[in-house]
Amino acid sequence: MSSDRFDLVKESFEKKAIPSERVEGKPSDYFGELVFDRRKMRKYLDADTLSALLECIDKGHPLDRKTADGVAEGMKEWALEHHVTHVTHWFQPLTEGTAEKHDSLIEYDGKGGVIEKFDGSSLVQQEPDASSFPNGGIRATFEARGYTAWDPTSPVFIMDDTLCIPTVFIAYTGEALDYKTPLKKALKAVSDAAVPICRLFDPKVEKVFSYLGWEQEYFLVDESLYAARPDLMITGRTLMGHASSKNQQLDDHYFGAIPSRVAEFMRDLETSGHRLGIPIKTRHNEVAPNQFELAPIYGETNLANDQNQLLMNLMNQIARKHGFVVLLHEKPFDGVNGSGKHNNWSLGTDKGTMLLAPGKDAMGNLQFITFFVNVLAAVQRHNGLLKASIASATNAHRLGGNEAPPAIISAFLGRTMTGVLRKLLEVPSDTPIEIAGKKGKNLGLVEIPEIFVDNTDRNRTSPFAFTGNRFEFRAVGSSANCAGAMTTLNAAVAEQLLIFKADLDKELAKGKALNVAVMDTLKPIIASIIDVVCFDGNGYAPEWVEEARMRGLDIETSVPEMIKVFTHPESVEMFRRTGVYSLMELEARNEVKWEMYIKKVQIESRVMVRMAINHIIPAALDYKHRLLKEVALSQEVFGDTSGCSVELRKMANSIEDLYQRAVAYHRIAEALNDLRRPIDKLEERVDNRTWPLPKYRELLFIS
Ligand code: ADP
Ligand code: MG
Repeated sequence: MSSDRFDLVKESFEKKAIPSERVEGKPSDYFGELVFDRRKMRKYLDADTLSALLECIDKGHPLDRKTADGVAEGMKEWALEHHVTHVTHWFQPLTEGTAEKHDSLIEYDGKGGVIEKFDGSSLVQQEPDASSFPNGGIRATFEARGYTAWDPTSPVFIMDDTLCIPTVFIAYTGEALDYKTPLKKALKAVSDAAVPICRLFDPKVEKVFSYLGWEQEYFLVDESLYAARPDLMITGRTLMGHASSKNQQLDDHYFGAIPSRVAEFMRDLETSGHRLGIPIKTRHNEVAPNQFELAPIYGETNLANDQNQLLMNLMNQIARKHGFVVLLHEKPFDGVNGSGKHNNWSLGTDKGTMLLAPGKDAMGNLQFITFFVNVLAAVQRHNGLLKASIASATNAHRLGGNEAPPAIISAFLGRTMTGVLRKLLEVPSDTPIEIAGKKGKNLGLVEIPEIFVDNTDRNRTSPFAFTGNRFEFRAVGSSANCAGAMTTLNAAVAEQLLIFKADLDKELAKGKALNVAVMDTLKPIIASIIDVVCFDGNGYAPEWVEEARMRGLDIETSVPEMIKVFTHPESVEMFRRTGVYSLMELEARNEVKWEMYIKKVQIESRVMVRMAINHIIPAALDYKHRLLKEVALSQEVFGDTSGCSVELRKMANSIEDLYQRAVAYHRIAEALNDLRRPIDKLEERVDNRTWPLPKYRELLFIS
């Protein structure tokens, strides 16, 4: 066994880079070639079908049967040219990842042969036999099955030989069983709430878009070494492993040269992503060894999220071609940075105004401040809920860790914007907010820069940071579906905008000018947030927890407890008012989350105990034997921890209530850390040749 490990390490060290596939032409030639986008629509659809479909995409009109048939016909023609043989409805159930069920396009032609058939009904609606997806009892209660329905705002694409149709997944009784349905509702809610406010500044505005630019972090490990680590294979993270003597202390990996094996993988990933219309823009090494990041150009939130889901699938596939496994887990290795997925988020009108960036003039700036302040107010009111929206068993290892956002949601504004808000509290409400420098230094009492260039004024420890024209929600986990966070954020902002607009209308009714009425409405909000949710200090400092508690922010660190916030009265009211979730959906989703939490910890504790018994104890005994030393390792070193964890698990499993069971599993998750520590100590002591598992130093440095 011991020599195996060395063979594997040598093998991985000697692996050569596998050249990436070259695709003809420039990226602009093949970008989106596997997507049925507007260009393809114009080419493959007749004029009536095209205009009916565009009405449906842009204005949300329902799709009639005749149009659906026409669209399906055009799609089929395009798909067959790309050698497509199968079709699937592609959806995002409440498990991680995406789900699909492939059907062949063939049908009997009635003359003894087959034809390729794809019509409007198979495009628009399907009934996957998806009864085993988690649904928190919604379907059981109503004895109804779920169906999938095309989301025409997200274009159809081709993966390998399959035409993939992005769909929502809904119970026949109407409850959402997926991530996409509530996200779409939240996006509509934020647009509906924002438009009346925007119209005060520009009467032509008809729609407000929510934008998302995700930054996907991930680790790569060699697949042979991965296969020798049961913990990585089954749980996605190392449950044991002593820190390597060189980790990330030197910071030499960050923005360093990308190893050639990895570079070839990245090239393949980018080309495949570009062909699928994913606007991948940046790639670089991350802080930890073997950690990397890629980010696209931001886009409309629903589409951007679909693209992130698609990209995560692609990453797994393409990594295998290059002899790697992608780790999307938030904390695959103890003691080195975890992986997040910063959600860069903003709002913009259909007339091209970005609402979280300074405007062209004083009124434009006032509009910016209006949205800026209301976002912060929403984040303050629902800080515990936003944390719940990113809480998971896996992300729990990253949040609160010393190199990740803390388990407290506060907002970083930077010196400039903090100064602007404080100034606004002092000056009369009709003071114009000028662009810095434009009118000479002395004129503007309140000034903001046209563009925020000072990137050094960035606080990496904040979970929700303003970065010049957007907010970065950094607490989102690398393996998460962004829709969880984006649904909650957009809905919370929608609710706040409704509250604001109602208050503003009262001020306007007093006959005040628009700028004065807006400022008079904003001032009490600014006063209530500036020293509560706004925090520019060090989020990793231990004192922050106590201060945050004093400020009334949610400091809960247990995932099962965090999840409960979804059914707190103010959350229920917010989701009801914005039309995003009913109480029943919220309760059902909480059950799914607790169940997922329980399962994850349950699997980890099983794997951990088995590895201790099957790998570690024999290695330790072997070592002890060879040295003839009196170290009674097995029982003394582990104490009763492994047995104890089995007992705890048995007890937890007998608890009926899912929330209570999740709470019990939270204690087990903590006990697992106690079991880990002696194993990691042993790794340091036991003869290197005897140690059975690839060590961190071997897993973490791709040549
Ligand atoms: P950094 O590492 O400095 O945060 P990156 O270039 O890695 O920057 O990623 C920034 C992400 O933010 C990209 O996906 C980018 O497209 C996105 N982004 C930029 N401006 C906006 C905006 N106004 N709204 C949403 N996302 C944005
Ligand atoms: Mg960023």
